[in-house]
Amino acid sequence: MSILVYIAQQHGQALPISWEAMGKAREMADKLGVPVVGFVVGQQVGETAKEGIAYGADKVLVADDPAFAQFRAYAFAEALQAAIAATKPSIILAPAVSGVRDAAALAACRLNIGLAADCQGLDLDAGGNLLAVRPVFSGNILTTVVFKARPQMATVRGRSFPLPAKDATRTGEIAPLTVALDELAAQEEVLSVESAEVGELSVENAGIIISGGRGVKGPEGFAPIRDLAKLLGGAVGASRAAVDAGWIPYPHQVGQTGKTVRPDLYIACGISGAIQHLAGMSNAKVIVAINKDKDAPIFGVARYGIVGDLFEVVPALTEAFRTKLGR
Ligand SMILES: Cc1cc2nc3c(=O)[nH]c(=O)nc-3n(C[C@H](O)[C@H](O)[C@H](O)COP(=O)(O)OP(=O)(O)OC[C@H]3O[C@@H](n4cnc5c(N)ncnc54)[C@H](O)[C@@H]3O)c2cc1C
Repeated sequence: MSILVYIAQQHGQALPISWEAMGKAREMADKLGVPVVGFVVGQQVGETAKEGIAYGADKVLVADDPAFAQFRAYAFAEALQAAIAATKPSIILAPAVSGVRDAAALAACRLNIGLAADCQGLDLDAGGNLLAVRPVFSGNILTTVVFKARPQMATVRGRSFPLPAKDATRTGEIAPLTVALDELAAQEEVLSVESAEVGELSVENAGIIISGGRGVKGPEGFAPIRDLAKLLGGAVGASRAAVDAGWIPYPHQVGQTGKTVRPDLYIACGISGAIQHLAGMSNAKVIVAINKDKDAPIFGVARYGIVGDLFEVVPALTEAFRTKLGR
């Protein structure tokens, strides 16, 4: 028995969400008296495996092969299944990020086990069974999922659990994992990879997000939003209206059909606050809304509201932060 944690990485760099999941796994494993086993798949991911030990794993399985240089759903699902077969975990946690979501779902289907997706809370009942809390109906209801089959698998949303402290003095075992890829995996081929947002922080794990909506009036209207995001070290988000208008690419979209985010600070500029937008950001710790219309629904979820023209308010905020932060 163990808890298996999928350590998601990009170019050999672990995503922080992996360590958030690891921290939660460590906490539950200590209650259950079982080890935490990390699992990392990719090419040249040895350093990530070592970090896994520092963040709380007792052992890390490493599927390190040129065949895993690029994400391929079937190949990564095969690797995950091999890790499950090798460790026989009672619980599997995986980050709810692109790619891993697919691999986890495929592995769950093939093993005929349940998968609670996009969890934002995890706990154990008195019998040591996993209780997985996940949003449904655009986040309007939280459900607690219990599992009939074993192992119990959940993908977890970013920033749902605190980042544990890294302890470089921790020791543990790092072991290679042999994966025999099946026919389906052999049929997958990555033709090219195009990075949509070179140099821009992704909204998914950002602590600060400045978002623009139809109120920015055009692609150039995102300039003051980008300036503020850059100054605060945050990411640029957008409503679907802005994305559909072609003013900003889809990876920036927040909401029901975009990304779900949980930053410490979310500043919505020229966004009305439609239910589908709120579904993606209403769990932010502090929401600030800037809107010309004092009756805009976004003010209903905002802790601080500024009624005004974003083209005056956002640059004024940027200047005020610049002075305050001395940057
Ligand atoms: C199935 C489905 C899924 C959807 N998924 C999503 C999703 O994932 N994300 C999403 O965002 N939407 C989604 N939508 C669309 C959603 O319903 C809204 O249409 C969209 O969120 C509106 O975007 P907006 O707030 O930018 O635009 P609007 O509703 O047009 O609001 C623009 C706001 O800007 C304000 N404004 C204008 N000029 C200024 C100015 N100079 N300064 C300050 N304020 C100004 C206005 O007062 C207004 O409140 C979805 C819809 C459907 C049906």
